[in-house]
Amino acid sequence: MPLGRIAYACYEAGMNPGENDRDLAELSKMLRARQVELRALSDGARDNRKPVELDQSKVGRLSRMDAMQDQAMAQEAERRRAGELQRIDAALARLKSGDYGYCVSCDEDIAPARLKLDPAVATCINCASRGRQ
Ligand SMILES: [Zn+2]
Repeated sequence: MPLGRIAYACYEAGMNPGENDRDLAELSKMLRARQVELRALSDGARDNRKPVELDQSKVGRLSRMDAMQDQAMAQEAERRRAGELQRIDAALARLKSGDYGYCVSCDEDIAPARLKLDPAVATCINCASRGRQ
């Protein structure tokens, strides 16, 4: 990958242009910080994903439905976090291998504006709109 490409992608992602290694390290640091944040969120929400207490004498029918809804929302949030962690892992691997900034599906450049929006994004806008991951 041409050195300028990564620097430009990093610049567009809100990082200082300059030393390529430093920009890469910066981007890697940013992605890792998000990983730490996601894992902390996941740990903090662990209790919310526990199975709902089915003891009818303990909670009324309505509050039990509330609890089940809360649990479903917590599970959905966890599913999203797991997905994002996976995407960040993959982005870090691409940074390491020098494939960062290229679409994993068609190998074309990913628009810097798209990387700025989501530095872990793996596909160009064309592939994403065709539903490729
Ligand atoms: Zn593509």
